[in-house]
Amino acid sequence: MFANVIVDISIEKLDRPFQYIIPDALADRIYPGVQIEAPFGNRTIKGYVIEITDTPEIALDRIKPISGVLSGSVAMESQLIELAAWMRANYGSTMNQSLKTVLPVRKKTKPMERKWLELVADENDARMKLAIYESGRSTAKARLLRELIVQKRIEQSLVTAKLNISGATIKSLEKDGMIAVSTEKQYRNPIANLEQNKRNLQLNPNQKRVVDAVLANVDAGIQKTYLLKGVTGSGKTEVYMELIAHAIEKGQQAIVLIPEIALTYQTVMRFYNRFGDRVSIMNSRLSDGERYDQYLRVLHHDVDIIIGPRSALFAPFENLGLIIIDEEHETSYKSETAPRYHAREVAIQRAKMCHASVVLGSATPSMESYYRAMEGEYELLELNQRVQDRPLAQCEVIDMREELRHGNRSILSTRLQERMEECLQKNEQMMLFLNRRGTAGFVSCRACGTVLKCPHCDVSLSQHRGGRLVCHYCGYEIPQPKTCPECGSKYIMGFKAGTQKVEEFVQKRFPDAKILRMDYDSTRTKDSYESILNAFANHEADILIGTQMIVKGHDFAGVTLVGILAADMSLHVPDFHGTERTFDLITQAAGRAGRGDLPGNVVIQSYDPDNYAIQAAKNQDYDAFYRQEIAYRGMMNYPPVNHMLVIGLANENEQILAKEAENITIYIDKLLQNHRRDCAVIGPADASIAKMNDIYRKVIYIKSKDYSLLVAVKDRLEKKQALSNIQYDFDPMSGF
Ligand code: ADP
Ligand code: ZN
Ligand code: ZN
Repeated sequence: MFANVIVDISIEKLDRPFQYIIPDALADRIYPGVQIEAPFGNRTIKGYVIEITDTPEIALDRIKPISGVLSGSVAMESQLIELAAWMRANYGSTMNQSLKTVLPVRKKTKPMERKWLELVADENDARMKLAIYESGRSTAKARLLRELIVQKRIEQSLVTAKLNISGATIKSLEKDGMIAVSTEKQYRNPIANLEQNKRNLQLNPNQKRVVDAVLANVDAGIQKTYLLKGVTGSGKTEVYMELIAHAIEKGQQAIVLIPEIALTYQTVMRFYNRFGDRVSIMNSRLSDGERYDQYLRVLHHDVDIIIGPRSALFAPFENLGLIIIDEEHETSYKSETAPRYHAREVAIQRAKMCHASVVLGSATPSMESYYRAMEGEYELLELNQRVQDRPLAQCEVIDMREELRHGNRSILSTRLQERMEECLQKNEQMMLFLNRRGTAGFVSCRACGTVLKCPHCDVSLSQHRGGRLVCHYCGYEIPQPKTCPECGSKYIMGFKAGTQKVEEFVQKRFPDAKILRMDYDSTRTKDSYESILNAFANHEADILIGTQMIVKGHDFAGVTLVGILAADMSLHVPDFHGTERTFDLITQAAGRAGRGDLPGNVVIQSYDPDNYAIQAAKNQDYDAFYRQEIAYRGMMNYPPVNHMLVIGLANENEQILAKEAENITIYIDKLLQNHRRDCAVIGPADASIAKMNDIYRKVIYIKSKDYSLLVAVKDRLEKKQALSNIQYDFDPMSGF
């Protein structure tokens, strides 16, 4: 057996591992992540094992044996490499892809430097010197010295700006023996310079019960995963912060995962207010340099808490005590590139490696997590009441087919219009949520049914401002045609209303209302997303209209009405998660109403009002939804009851792809012939996007109760030669 070893991961050597023989005497101590010693030229080097293989990469007589295993302190890198190896094995990718996911891009950026000016002269001497400067009309020198006599120590940049002082003045004061200049290396904290506003809430008895349940296990040395199911506004975030505070008290660190879209100023401030600059954030807006700085700050023990999306999971904390995943049902926790890992699973794996606790939180837990909790794998903790007994919003479902029968063809039902009227009269705020997941925004011909699609990606083009049609996968763009390219009819138009249409209608209906709109178009610039949210929070508008962007975790105390337009649009996406997503979205949207002191109302408009997702969401009854949905998943052998592996094949040649997909399906069938009762092979079929960027795509599905069987199939396929690109997606979160 051979070990592939990377020598130094601080200089981008990730793509060039060296191979060594594993001596028999060391065999059981060598696995990915372990630090070893080995000969290199005529010296001995230290390196990390990243992979074990039975395939030699160079002539056998040129491969040397590993000389020793380094024990003792386990370097942070060892743990992360071990995690990368686990990801490679469980999700399918190259070791390189896994390592690059786990270890940060190393950018040789210089840390920022902060210069400090300090008064070193005795105060009396300084005052005498000051008098000399003043009489000699050295006004700049006088200004600086005067300030330093008062302040003793100031940051240079503050002085130069405030007192208009040059570098020469500083030098001259230094030469006069009045001051000393010192330099401090400063890694950038993206949230530095915030105003801290400490406020410690007393946990209510429900919150305390949850915290105590976790701490009891922690104190007993029991490592566990918890599912905190708490209705929106039940105080989950306060629970997280309390648990983090306990971890920090014990000298441990914490990672908090939050979906990128909910990682707003508001959220960050809550953590900052409690923990000050021991908190830092990671998000996709950080530059590589800033991201690397975060990595270093963690390594140097400058921070105890990292908040961020999926990738924050790999913060190199040496004494990690707690991983929190908020809104754990969010699809963004699943990576859509290889390795296609789920943050929840990797978090649990990492936590096991360092004996940390994992807390998954959600008002609408994913089917996966709730199923695991029911099976006893996770411990279920619940918060069933809103803080301060604020009632949940009142929900009603409006049958839009009835509306049509009564001659109302507009986007808003009569009932919703009444509610809006009331709301505006009371000077309260409302949100109108347009469910656009799935099919919305496409352009079709009412005469012949033709839908305009991207010629490269086989998905419908979406209508945008200024009469443009845009492909959301590849960016292909055309002006909207005036007539149908197939039949010449002029009845070619957007099929479903977009947010802009809703805005126009609402403005016409309520001319005095102030409206804000948030969607793909209005949030393309970097900060517009946050500025729209802020404007709404400051009551600069009465109505906020938007897509799913507006329902993710934003807390607006003034909102008393939420209108959900076309609630069921997401029911019919070609993906087994459609019903779950619909339930989540409606429940989350409804949770936006009545967050402050005033009670809330929710109006759900639907063309399929009896659907169990709509009914359960209306009653805010998660358990009822879960019972029906899990029965469906079980019947269809979908996750979480079974596991599912999607094998995605891509090739620019349609014929080669079709042939290869057939062959691979036959090959898998043979592999699994002794497991017929435990698994099913489906396909090959066109992928939901059958062509992307001119590359054809097909899928094969395997369902099995036994995850390791699916991993075994992947392992065999990885060793097989193939003409097409092959990707693996275990327990998919969306269509391939
Ligand atoms: P969730 O995360 O479950 O939606 P939050 O933690 O955001 O709930 O709490 C909702 C609101 O209630 C927040 O404004 C929070 O500051 C407040 N809150 C939470 N816990 C308490 C408490 N024990 N006492 C008073 N207010 C609280
Ligand atoms: Zn037509
Ligand atoms: Zn396209």
